[in-house]
Amino acid sequence: VSNNLSRRDFLKLVGLFSGNIALPPFLRIPPSSLLTQAGKKNVLIVVFDALSAYNVSLYGYGRETTPNINRLAERAIIYHNNFAACSWTVPSTASLMTGVLPWTHRAFNVNQPVIDYLVTKSVFHAFRDYYRIAYSHNPLVYTFLDQFQKDLDDYIPVQQLFITFDELTQTIFRNDDDISSVSWQRIIKKALNGGYSYSLFLSGFLNISRAEQLAKWKDSFPRGLPNIRADNFFVLEQAIDYLGVQVKQSPKPFFAYFHFMPPHEPYKTHRDFVDYFKNDGFQSVEKPRDIPFAGGGKITSKYLYKMRREYDEYILYADREFGRFFKNLEDSGVLEDTWLILTSDHGELFERGILGHNTSALYQPVIRIPLMIFEPGRTRRMDIRIPTSTVDLLPTLLHVTGGQPANWSEGTVLPPFADTPVDTNRNIYAIEARNNGQRDPLTNATVVLVKGHMKLTYYIGDEQLGTRQERVELYDIEADPEELNNLNTDKPKLGWELLNELKAKLAEVNAPYL
Ligand SMILES: [Zn+2]
Repeated sequence: VSNNLSRRDFLKLVGLFSGNIALPPFLRIPPSSLLTQAGKKNVLIVVFDALSAYNVSLYGYGRETTPNINRLAERAIIYHNNFAACSWTVPSTASLMTGVLPWTHRAFNVNQPVIDYLVTKSVFHAFRDYYRIAYSHNPLVYTFLDQFQKDLDDYIPVQQLFITFDELTQTIFRNDDDISSVSWQRIIKKALNGGYSYSLFLSGFLNISRAEQLAKWKDSFPRGLPNIRADNFFVLEQAIDYLGVQVKQSPKPFFAYFHFMPPHEPYKTHRDFVDYFKNDGFQSVEKPRDIPFAGGGKITSKYLYKMRREYDEYILYADREFGRFFKNLEDSGVLEDTWLILTSDHGELFERGILGHNTSALYQPVIRIPLMIFEPGRTRRMDIRIPTSTVDLLPTLLHVTGGQPANWSEGTVLPPFADTPVDTNRNIYAIEARNNGQRDPLTNATVVLVKGHMKLTYYIGDEQLGTRQERVELYDIEADPEELNNLNTDKPKLGWELLNELKAKLAEVNAPYL
């Protein structure tokens, strides 16, 4: 089925369906506004889950993890000091989608939607004149896609791009604070009852049985197929191919959000990259382990080194597939009219005895994330080094597409697109508060303030710190990017000043919840 149907053809087609049969989303009649918007550029956001800027060679990592991204960067605007809003999926993705920080949207933990008024402030609502498509491999993101569903024209259910998914309903996310069985059940139920008619129009790969697919892909993934917990398998190739077709066929202009699981753990890279970095002599930086709160500092350096290597090898897979996606979009001409964004939701830690991102320790590798903007027609690279935030994306995209300003956003229009110079010393924040009540003032949290090249990390609350109520770390992230030298002891005055500024900000954001 082509999307190049005229409106008359759409109406004819619709006549073939009786009123109570749901149309698959790409056969819905596009609003007439869509048909009169020729000239408007599409927007496509690609998120690779848990892709740390620290481990990306474009950003200076010692391993060549991203050859494709490096090559494509010659045509991109590259943000070198871009910060996630949090260290894990839920709060960070909510910030990307609403343009506000966790202390404002209040999605601190799984199954916590953003507060009500933001439903009509999401990026999908902001682009309501566009044909809006969303997909995420990561089920946690569906808390928000559910919430913003009225603003989605093509809501692709999570299991659409999984090879196996029915096993999921039974188990699997139990006892895991990163994945919620409750939200999962809700998603499956919605997909089964909600009138999705995709099965009629599946591309080839889903028409063969799951057993055949698993057999077909098995040899390509010696460490096991990519998955979310146990036996829920997917391959990135299929998602890339499927979504490439979706955007080509979609009514224009489209606004698309695609959130891919790799390189999120478990690190199941493609055969071509297994042991790619083995015995390469890479040396990781040994860092202090004096993590004061639960779960910190316990994992051996040897194990961290091994997991880092497997993660780096998984990044190679994500990088290759991004390269293929890019080429596909370019060859089909879609890219000429599309703002393409490459970013992540948070990073990953392999240091200080900490593995992964289920941590309140907001060191750089877990909150500094890639951001690249591919501007239609741009052929030259531009490097932006001032600190930026994931909440800047929404106002920036609205600005470059001629939309209404996002007055509610805590972000700003990024250079080089801002009409006035961006304050290089403006405050950038990250907030981790999963142990905090959703409607309570922040009393159990980690809050980061980045100002210029200084970074203050403020750990609050006895859940994290036991009897110690506060911990403050201060780093010069330009002179000491590995955060080895805590200046809070050497330069306490500077620490106090930044801490007072942060406390004043906390008083402001806590006020509605006191
Ligand atoms: Zn994530």
